This record gives sequence, structure tokens and C-alpha cells, in this order.
Amino acid sequence: MNSSFHIAAGIGFALVAATVLTPFGLGASISLQLIAIACLGALLPDVDHYKTKQFKFVAAVVFATIAILCWQLTANALLSLTVGATAVIVLLALKPRHRGITHSWPAAIVFAVIVYAATLDKGLALAGLAAYASHLVLDLT
Ligand SMILES: [Zn+2]
Repeated sequence: MNSSFHIAAGIGFALVAATVLTPFGLGASISLQLIAIACLGALLPDVDHYKTKQFKFVAAVVFATIAILCWQLTANALLSLTVGATAVIVLLALKPRHRGITHSWPAAIVFAVIVYAATLDKGLALAGLAAYASHLVLDLT
């Protein structure tokens, strides 16, 4: 399943959840925030595969963060780049297997809890859960 399809399905699942749960007070209004959360939830499970854009983004953030922190401490460019690259190698070694923990229902619930903690909106959290769940369901096909 490619990223575009996961995004489309995630947005669809999130919109359905936001709409269906509205009579129960657990819906969410259609907004850019809802779409962004749906996209994130739909793509996040594949952060466990080194070929995905999600993993490459995380690796870039880890590299930049570690290299900048090292630069601030040492002012040595070569050492900072080496330590940043080492951090990415460690990330590769420690990343979970593909379709492991990030492709699980507990991970989906953790994502929803994080969305709720960030937004304090149950509707957005449940829409995010639906988007994350869409990825899990589609990967079964
Ligand atoms: Zn996947």
C-alpha cells in the first residue's frame, strides 16, 4: 500500500468517525487540524521501515538534533557530523521490525492519547484513532 492511498483512506476513516460520533458528543468538525491529524495517523505506522519518507524524516531530525547539540558543546564540525551519523546508525539498529509495534492497536491507542494530550479534543483523538486504524486494516489486505 502506498502513502497516497494510506492518506486518502486515513482522511476518509477520520471524516467518517468525526461525523458518525457527533451525535454522541465525540465528533469533530471538519478542519485543517483534523485532516493533518488524519494524515499523520495514516502514515505514522510506517515509521518503522527505513525506506519510507517517515523514517527518513525522523532520521534527518535525529541527525540534525544530535549534530547541532554536539556542535554547541564542541564547536568541532567533523566530530558533530560523525556523532550525528552515529546517532542515525543507532536509530537504524534500534528501530522496531517492520509491521511490528507501530502496526499494532496499542500503538493506535497511544497515538490517540497523544492527539488528545496535544489538542484536549476527544473528537480529534478518535478521528486520529480511526485514521491510524485505517492503516492497520489496509495493511492486512
Ligand atoms: Zn504499514
